Amino acid sequence: MGTLETIIADAQARGKKYFIKVANLGTTMFGSVDDPKTYTDLYERLGIRYKLHIDGAYGGFVYPFSNTASTISFEDLNVSSITIDAHKMLQAPYGTGIFICRKGLIENTLTKEAEYVEGMDLTLCGSRSGTNAVAVWMILCTYGPNGWFEKISILQMRTSWLCKMLDKIGIPYFREPFMNIVTINAEFVTEATAARFDLVPQKHDSSNQWYKVVVMDHVENEHLALLANALNDNVPSFQ
Ligand SMILES: *Cc1c(COP(=O)(O)O)cnc(C)c1O
Repeated sequence: MGTLETIIADAQARGKKYFIKVANLGTTMFGSVDDPKTYTDLYERLGIRYKLHIDGAYGGFVYPFSNTASTISFEDLNVSSITIDAHKMLQAPYGTGIFICRKGLIENTLTKEAEYVEGMDLTLCGSRSGTNAVAVWMILCTYGPNGWFEKISILQMRTSWLCKMLDKIGIPYFREPFMNIVTINAEFVTEATAARFDLVPQKHDSSNQWYKVVVMDHVENEHLALLANALNDNVPSFQ
């Protein structure tokens, strides 16, 4: 029995009948993407009733555009719901997380706690900001699907370029294909370099093992070249 199957068997033994799997479409530190089939194939084989949620908070505005063959979307009938944050890669104002689910599921979130809001607690009501929704709409309309695809394609090229440099220098890193994040082993990064380039640590204390570079619009090849040079200065064996 695999690890996952053991976990499920344990949960069933404790009386759990239904499962919700949250599959990540880009983790925050590594950008790593889960293959939902790892879970759904097993659930199907075991005859388990489940829902599958896709956490696309970070990668939702990247991965589907860079990996156009990806089926991590509502195209996959097993996907019940998706979250996607416009305040990450889309650079919309904070508080623009988006939750989308299949018809018939949103009713499960209508809680008694929100009864003071008149009508169904489904859309803009209470103190939710309509300005945020308008901002997201405007950003999306300004890029258009082709403009956004182009932007993501450029970021992919720059990310691959940084990886090529790191390969050359011999610095270990993690990069999920089709994502714009490169996570570098902290052993190879001096504090001075981390500070100079504002690298984001996994942990904000001495136990930190990773620094990440998120390649965005303002992170151009010339900046990445400076970083690669600084990292190279710490690897004496390279020549
Ligand atoms: C940012 C993030 C969240 C949390 O989203 P917020 O809407 O900013 O609270 C959840 N999952 C992942 C992978 C994230 O990157």
